[in-house]
Amino acid sequence: MRALFFGPPGSGKGTQATRLAAERSLVHLSSGDLLRAAAAKGTPLGREAKGYMDRGELVPDDLVVGLLLERLEEMESRRGFVLDGFPRNRLQAEALEGRLGREGRSALDVALEFLLGDEDVVDRMSGRRSCSGCGTPYHVRFSPPRVADRCDRCGRSLVGRSDDAPAVVRGRLQVYRRDADGLRSFYRSLGCLREVDASGTIDEVARFVTAVLDEEGVE
Ligand code: AMP
Repeated sequence: MRALFFGPPGSGKGTQATRLAAERSLVHLSSGDLLRAAAAKGTPLGREAKGYMDRGELVPDDLVVGLLLERLEEMESRRGFVLDGFPRNRLQAEALEGRLGREGRSALDVALEFLLGDEDVVDRMSGRRSCSGCGTPYHVRFSPPRVADRCDRCGRSLVGRSDDAPAVVRGRLQVYRRDADGLRSFYRSLGCLREVDASGTIDEVARFVTAVLDEEGVE
């Protein structure tokens, strides 16, 4: 399966991508995670990307496209992938098609949009945490760890993201709404756009995602 999950920040696409990838032995490729890892390592690309990320702006397309396409090519031979956060606009989507698309066939089997209103986005983001060690995502209300502020998997402390601060979230939402139309119309024209209601619990949304993929016969 070759899938893209896209949607506003906080719509749960990362959580669902992690889950689906584990269930179906797919590679989960998150552009945000790759960029944050590069920033934490202090690579030249990471240092450049960090300023944009902290301000809630998109990292310039040339940096992101190069990084992501390189990773995707390393994975071409694997069973499939779930992309999360890339492509994020039409230009990035065209770059992906240019590299992985085949004559008359999209690079993706499905581009799944997670639908969530702005109020829900801000509400969800304020409680978002992730493990400082392994990156496992949590939410203080919706998916809390068993022990407060400690990762269930590795026991390290949980941290919030600097770009989840309310003012930055509003900016990220604007950026998302601005670019989503282009992405939506691009994948609609390729016939692989689908939608999922992302306002439910993690388990509910997971069931919707599975239903859409099964309906499409995507394996
Ligand atoms: P995310 O974890 O997907 O919410 O991404 C966090 C931040 O990383 C975004 O606000 C952007 O600054 C940057 N980023 C992630 N993916 C992309 C992308 N495909 N294009 C540009 N910037 C990106």
